[in-house]
Amino acid sequence: MKENCLFCKIIEGKIPSEKVYEDASVVAFKDIHPKAPIHILIVPRTHLDSLASLNEQNIDILKPIFLAAHKIAKKEGVLEKGFRTVFNCNQEGGQAVYHLHLHLLAGKQLGGAMGG
Ligand code: AMP
Ligand code: ZN
Repeated sequence: MKENCLFCKIIEGKIPSEKVYEDASVVAFKDIHPKAPIHILIVPRTHLDSLASLNEQNIDILKPIFLAAHKIAKKEGVLEKGFRTVFNCNQEGGQAVYHLHLHLLAGKQLGGAMGG
């Protein structure tokens, strides 16, 4: 729990969210401004600012995030059709909320551009 962190507050239930999945390691909820019919944020319960803070000691944080992405994609019926996962990192990566989160986008043909 980091002071004044939006996603820590959502995890603690202090700010409402539309939860779609949770387990001992992660919470996943609908993005408030969806960029695709399915747009879910997968957030580790442990606060880490961004991928820029990743190191040998905390890299295990990623495993439950991707396992959750797989489970959610299956539950949403897009595992076979396809989906996209994105981590935005720091300013030029377009990160707005500094609590690590994986975007899961699906439900339409996603564009080929990865930014630009
Ligand atoms: P990023 O730009 O990668 O940091 O993504 C932050 C995402 O959080 C954006 O897609 C926002 O739409 C989303 N977001 C911001 N506030 C909330 C909220 N209260 N509940 C759900 N999603 C949110
Ligand atoms: Zn946080």
